[in-house]
Amino acid sequence: MLQQTQVSRVLPAYRRFLARYPTLRALSRAPLGDVLREWSGLGYNRRARDLHRIARLCTSRLPRTVAGLDALPGVGAYTASAVACFALGQAAAFADTNIRRVLGRAILGRTATEREAVALDSRFGSRRASARWHHALMDIGATVCLAKRPHCDVCPVRNVCRYEGDEETSLRRQPSFQESDRRVRGAIVRHLASATRGVAVDTLRRGINDPRVPRLVRVLAREGLVEVSSGSVRLPTR
Ligand code: SF4
Repeated sequence: MLQQTQVSRVLPAYRRFLARYPTLRALSRAPLGDVLREWSGLGYNRRARDLHRIARLCTSRLPRTVAGLDALPGVGAYTASAVACFALGQAAAFADTNIRRVLGRAILGRTATEREAVALDSRFGSRRASARWHHALMDIGATVCLAKRPHCDVCPVRNVCRYEGDEETSLRRQPSFQESDRRVRGAIVRHLASATRGVAVDTLRRGINDPRVPRLVRVLAREGLVEVSSGSVRLPTR
């Protein structure tokens, strides 16, 4: 849920979701449409679909190794290692944006690429207290080593840090076409979540007022996020 989504938006949804689906088994028994409704407001609906698929693959227990977690639908190397570290207490190397910035600036003098940061994490990270180490890096990255104005004067690694303060920080991208597709995809799922029956594609296109709706409905159907039958679209009932 936290992938690309703010903590303040996730917290109430997380509590609601766990109250409704307290176990993998409960989640596995729910139709995907209900899960998507419960996910409403969080966006990136593929995450809900993947979580649902995972629950149906592992109804009683998740794998307990990085490789096993990595093999689950929608789970990549970063998530697998972070879950192994934080939930299972294992030593694992991984790097999100904050970790890349803190480790990279401190050791290389610039923000590291993900590959570089994972190598640095593997070399310098604590194996005995992997979760504390990663929490500390994430917290420093979120509150001290800020992208634009790092607070070096209060940073615990200021005496060894190699950053000289000349990093290019204006790398903001324009929203890509794919990202704006994402907005329309979200609108389609929200629209269907509030509908009590199937909605004609044309009605959906007019309601959302975007010509991309028919194409994106086909994409969502291929991904298993909606069902289309006789020109009518709805959230999955199975
Ligand atoms: S000393 Fe400054 S640049 Fe280096 S890690 Fe700390 S906050 Fe970041």
